[in-house]
Amino acid sequence: MYEFQTATLGLSRMGPNRELKFAMEKYWKGKIGKDEFIAKAQAVEELGWSLQLADDKIDSIPVGEHFYYDGVLSWAEWLGIVPKRFAHLDAGIDRMFAMARGVDGATALGLKKWFTTNYHYLPSEVDTKRSPANLTDYLANVKRGLQFVGADKARAVIYGPVTIIRHSTFAQTEGSIDVQRFALLAELIPIYQKLIQDLSDMGVKEIQIHEPALVFDESSKLLPLYKQAYPSILANKKSTTRIDMVTYFEDVGADNWTWLMEQSEINKVSLDFTRGDNLALLKSNGFPKEKTLGAGIIDARSPWKVDPSKILPLIEELQSLGVSKDRLCIQPCASLQFVPWDLQNGEDNNLLKHQASKVLSFQQQKIDELHALATSDKKFVADTNEAWSVYKSSGTRNEEVGKAVAGLTEKDFTRGETFEVRRPKQMPELPILPTTSIGSFPQTAGIRRLRQQLKKGTMSKEEYEAAIDKEITFMIGIQEGLGLDILVHGEPERTDMVEFFAQQMNGMLFSGNGWVQSFGSRCVRPPIIWADVSLDHAMTTREFKVAQSLTKKPVKGMLTGPITILNWSFPRADISRKEQTFQIGLALRKEIAYLEEAGCRVIQVDEPALREGMPMRSARKDEYLRWAVDAFRLATAAAKSETSIHTHMCYCEFGDCMEALDEMDADVNSIENARSDDETLRQFKAIGYKKGLGPGTYDIHSPVVPTPEFIRGKMESFLENMEVSQLTINPDCGLKTRGWPETIEALRVMVEVTKEMRLEI
Ligand code: GLN
Ligand code: ZN
Repeated sequence: MYEFQTATLGLSRMGPNRELKFAMEKYWKGKIGKDEFIAKAQAVEELGWSLQLADDKIDSIPVGEHFYYDGVLSWAEWLGIVPKRFAHLDAGIDRMFAMARGVDGATALGLKKWFTTNYHYLPSEVDTKRSPANLTDYLANVKRGLQFVGADKARAVIYGPVTIIRHSTFAQTEGSIDVQRFALLAELIPIYQKLIQDLSDMGVKEIQIHEPALVFDESSKLLPLYKQAYPSILANKKSTTRIDMVTYFEDVGADNWTWLMEQSEINKVSLDFTRGDNLALLKSNGFPKEKTLGAGIIDARSPWKVDPSKILPLIEELQSLGVSKDRLCIQPCASLQFVPWDLQNGEDNNLLKHQASKVLSFQQQKIDELHALATSDKKFVADTNEAWSVYKSSGTRNEEVGKAVAGLTEKDFTRGETFEVRRPKQMPELPILPTTSIGSFPQTAGIRRLRQQLKKGTMSKEEYEAAIDKEITFMIGIQEGLGLDILVHGEPERTDMVEFFAQQMNGMLFSGNGWVQSFGSRCVRPPIIWADVSLDHAMTTREFKVAQSLTKKPVKGMLTGPITILNWSFPRADISRKEQTFQIGLALRKEIAYLEEAGCRVIQVDEPALREGMPMRSARKDEYLRWAVDAFRLATAAAKSETSIHTHMCYCEFGDCMEALDEMDADVNSIENARSDDETLRQFKAIGYKKGLGPGTYDIHSPVVPTPEFIRGKMESFLENMEVSQLTINPDCGLKTRGWPETIEALRVMVEVTKEMRLEI
């Protein structure tokens, strides 16, 4: 053993070249059989083990942690938390995939954001009758891991019962959620008891129980569940099996801290020291002498190297607070699934030749960093310090941008006139209940092919643009034909709503192979913000002008907002998220001016990630919301009174940030609503929201065309909650994943019903 112990909490799941993704997709298509699929997945897992075993870099290596689609989903399958519509299927990976993707008319489970990350988990739906638990596959995986890694280093990972319960959904019709949670826990306790006994009997020396739900700011709701679950589920383990209680993404809060530290069955507590304030809790409470501290000091969600000038003093401080060397284990703050596999793997020169790459660190590099820190490698510290200082003096700062951000005053965040005064000036020709869409239209195979041809060089830029213009012409024609009131150009030229903008801004860096899992087989390559962000040309006016030249109706300019661009990128590590968001806000402010100059009268600035970036502990929520809202206002406030600013948000619960939505001061907020029983609408009403609202009239996730009765029902409830003059009529979200036939049909129904309703009001 080296100076400090090292551990990891999970690895990137896809493999160096997204092997798991391709294996999964082939298996779904029937191109490979189950055995071959599993063999390919296991090969990725073994590669991950090998790189931790090399040079004894990592002492505690997770096993039983390689999930094919999602961890919460796998555990729901193993524990038998299977909704009725899938319960007739045989237990195992096929049922798990069926829940993930839907099968024979049984719709798939939903997708939700995992804590504050951009990774999605699949919440299981708890039915009154559970399926039997079946942990055979899991135990076989652990056994394989024990053999490969060796019993001394293997750490069996289990997702704890409270975290599973917190990430499941319960039927409203079955009564109190709290009661249902306790009922499920009562069923799970014996299953976990047996599981932990089995692991203990197999010779597992330490179990990582992942209970990140300990960081939610809801300890009053969850702590009673924790108290019920622990220590009873640990009752049958041998005393030789140690327990590591693992949390991440935030501090655990004072109440949970006290409870955790009192549990004598818990031998190690893993805490995140990169987010939240576990350090303050440690300072005021000390750390129990008999426990090991799993110090999550390397940010598992950041693609940047550690900064020795910060991390070495932190390691010292932990020791001075009473955590002796032999009880201090250094580790990434969470699973490394949030960073790409290896900086040196498959990267094009684009990234590796860039000066910023010297301070980048993906999974492989983070493991090397842990090893360097554990061995007090002086050369590593000197080299890393040097790399950071070179990076900082290599054009990361842009004086003009710095001045612009420093010189901002209240006025820069405020529209020229109040909503009441400016709103009547905006597109006065529109009828009541104007109809629109959220931006994108079907991204057909033909459109994707165009982009590939451009990339390969088999199509010139001129040819590409001409082909895109044809698509725009088609889309405008469709919308004219349907009789929509505010048109969009349809976004055919965009791969992705963040990448498209990031590629045109200065200060952004792109990797060739830096994939991270978003959900299932879907991976994203987040842009890396490496320097001050600025904009020196218009990004969207060409397509806007083409679209607007084809119609007399207003065409909506379409931008992605500053918070969403930040949250779906890798932010830089040397300046605050707030400062970076303001820089992006200033760039978008320019774009809005370009669009106005081009004659645009309505501009939508999408902010679907506003909510997900919010810290979990309420003490820090307000601060975040203040600057997040300010960044949006900075982007939009210079718009003329005559310009209608729309925003759009989807797939999150807004309950705890309603006021912030109002303070964004958008003229219209189009929000997802169709699946949520109008809950969001009532929340807007409850805060006395007076601005424009475009609640979704139908869910865009299914090809099913909504009936006129469904849309009418939705619109009637809009009218119960809002004034007619406030309402805009639109689908829930963009239509890029849909096909044309259902898109046209659904919009036709929406427009027809709106026309009828106008006559009735
Ligand atoms: N304008 C984008 C679109 O229509 C919005 C996407 C989103 O909200 N996620 O696709
Ligand atoms: Zn959306």
